[in-house]
Amino acid sequence: MRIDLHTHSAASDGTDTPAELVTNAAHAGLDVVALTDHDTTSGWREAAEARPAGLTLVPGAEFSCRCPDGRGGECTVHLLGYLFDPVAGAITQEQARLRTDRRRRLQAMAERMRDDGYPIDPRALLDAVPADAAAGRPHLARALVEAGTVGSVDEAFTTLLGSGCRYYMAKEETPVERAIDMIDEAGGASVLAHGFAGRRGPTVTSSVIRKLAEVGLTGLEVAHPDHDRRAREELGELAGALGLVVTGSSDYHGGNKVNRLGQEVTGQACFEELVNRTSGRQPIAG
Ligand code: AMP
Ligand code: FE
Ligand code: FE
Ligand code: ZN
Repeated sequence: MRIDLHTHSAASDGTDTPAELVTNAAHAGLDVVALTDHDTTSGWREAAEARPAGLTLVPGAEFSCRCPDGRGGECTVHLLGYLFDPVAGAITQEQARLRTDRRRRLQAMAERMRDDGYPIDPRALLDAVPADAAAGRPHLARALVEAGTVGSVDEAFTTLLGSGCRYYMAKEETPVERAIDMIDEAGGASVLAHGFAGRRGPTVTSSVIRKLAEVGLTGLEVAHPDHDRRAREELGELAGALGLVVTGSSDYHGGNKVNRLGQEVTGQACFEELVNRTSGRQPIAG
């Protein structure tokens, strides 16, 4: 069984439509794929309708959260929520709030670039992101690639859009304990995404992960393209000590990242354990 539990479609900052994503997942030899767009469930229906026979689809989403960093400050962590009931009011409302703020923020970033003379049209940029999709920096990065300003999405992040760069602006996030509660109350499971991926920015200490486990975190994403061997070892040990489910996933974003579908995978027993800890929805199979 090849199981990839972290992918993005054009409902957030990936480039495959949800239908293309499930088709590509089957072609990549996956048996199970989770769709985990940032701050939206709007891709679920199209992905389910286009799902090739034999591919199991796990509906999910990725949540950007504020979290104590364990050193007296705060940092961003990402939570993957799986198999929650999307009509649960709290999640739907919070995701709508975050998507509205994402649009505001991306427009402000684009306006700042335009005012500095970059060939960016903020209105056209925002109009190209569907109303129920999550707008993000990758949309601006792609526009910069298409305008010839940079050679790649990665270069746009390194030189212009990354935290610390001139055009970076923060966005709204959900307090991490609140996100864990919301997912739990909606019958879902929560997994800390790329928890020790230091190259993405500040990360939490292991004592913070212990605290998150106490308040209901279900699992840790151990295998991720941004985790080196040491990160995997430490997270794997923590998961064992804390009784957390271990996952591995590609964090595929289509053409916006080099990550390939199935580049990292989750073990079958771990996947079954994850599903056993949910009551919101079933994976879509058959
Ligand atoms: P945002 O959610 O708007 O803050 O943008 C963050 C998203 O940008 C992440 O979810 C990644 O998909 C993407 N991202 C961050 N760094 C890079 C990079 N160096 N290359 C490509 N995509 C990136
Ligand atoms: Fe992303
Ligand atoms: Fe993430
Ligand atoms: Zn992701």
